[in-house]
Amino acid sequence: MPEFDPDRAETVRRAFDAGVVAILCPADLTRAASLQVIAALAEEFPTVLAAAGVHAHQAKDLTADHLRELQGLAAGRTIRAVGEIGLDYHYDFSPKDAQLEALRRQLALAAEAGLPVILHSRLSGADIIEAVDGERFRGGGILHCFTEDWGTARAMLDRGFLVSFSGILTFPKAGALREVAAMVPLDRLLVETDSPYLAPVPYRGSGRRNEPAFVVETARVLAGLRGLSLEEMAAVTTRNFAGMFPFEKTGGQC
Ligand SMILES: [Zn+2]
Repeated sequence: MPEFDPDRAETVRRAFDAGVVAILCPADLTRAASLQVIAALAEEFPTVLAAAGVHAHQAKDLTADHLRELQGLAAGRTIRAVGEIGLDYHYDFSPKDAQLEALRRQLALAAEAGLPVILHSRLSGADIIEAVDGERFRGGGILHCFTEDWGTARAMLDRGFLVSFSGILTFPKAGALREVAAMVPLDRLLVETDSPYLAPVPYRGSGRRNEPAFVVETARVLAGLRGLSLEEMAAVTTRNFAGMFPFEKTGGQC
């Protein structure tokens, strides 16, 4: 995102200094510079892993060229996951049909490439489950920035997915989401930033840019919900991530 143009590498270093060990960073193929910027970061930092896809918001702009590009990136293992892909019935920036079609095509592509997916779902849990089942997608992946209900979480856990919580988990009004987070099996939990959006408490407010170093605050809340220390939860989420995305450790702190 352009919000990080002035200090992208320093932002990554701040995250590692804060205890983050690895970062999965998704590019959107409909945004001109996105993939090149992320590929360069992945080159510079061995534990920054790239992903790519066409987001639900941009589904109406998905072309055959994008799919070919995605196929090439997957085949060359430039990317470690296909995503973000998914459905967003809150914003509805693309027509529902276009969203479903883009999701199905990219699920099929990920299955063919043997890659997991990063799924975005907003008010669309039932259709996400239906698409995954309709494509017989069994490659698993991440339910990113999870805000759906426990029923959706449980159905997707059954389908091999990890559930990733963002800064929303720290928001005062997110009691229902914290109840879901308390029920997800420990070996399926992840934390994320969704930066530059959704800065966790206490960084939230006045349009402040979120960044990966702040994910510690989300992990702290998640640890509290599970009766673990921050260090124990950090070990849990790092282990879960490494299980799906094996990476070379380079002196991380966990
Ligand atoms: Zn998303």
